[in-house]
Amino acid sequence: MSALAWGVGCAVAVVGVALAIARWRSVETDAARAEGASRPAALRDAELVYMEKLFRISTPVGLVAKLDRAYRMPSGLLVLVEFKTRSSNQPFLSDVIQLSAQRLAVMGQTGRLVASYGYVMVKAPTRRALPIAHRVRLMTDDQVVALVRRREDILADRILPRRPQSRKTCLSCAFRGQCDGLIP
Ligand code: SF4
Repeated sequence: MSALAWGVGCAVAVVGVALAIARWRSVETDAARAEGASRPAALRDAELVYMEKLFRISTPVGLVAKLDRAYRMPSGLLVLVEFKTRSSNQPFLSDVIQLSAQRLAVMGQTGRLVASYGYVMVKAPTRRALPIAHRVRLMTDDQVVALVRRREDILADRILPRRPQSRKTCLSCAFRGQCDGLIP
């Protein structure tokens, strides 16, 4: 191979690597921009510290919770965020229970302080819809523990389940077919 051909080959390789790095940086910037645009405005100055991460505790109750995102505020406080796609633009009690269980698991596993509020980001099921933030107050640790124990008692047939206060809850419940006629 002539020196000229070798030189041209090297130059092409260098340009290729440079283009690949530029493309990778552009993808990374787009992802960061999309993440920034999808977070609640109140968390603009916060740092994204966990994403799609599983947390596990065995005491005071056994609990495994996977969170969507956790942000660290400048004060060090962690704030949890849960994403939902649904046509009704509102947070549900089940969202609050999920976030509250995540809070207990994150604090138990990491020892870090997690805010007693969180955000449910509700996005309409259309391509162009943007998530809308709903700030929700979370359940206390004692309330989560009581809920987990109640669930265990129901599954072990130690107590009977009750229907929710609003029958509307049953209308959109995935377990409706299984429990119709079983719960008084
Ligand atoms: S359908 Fe059954 S499991 Fe679902 S909310 Fe109603 S009572 Fe609960």
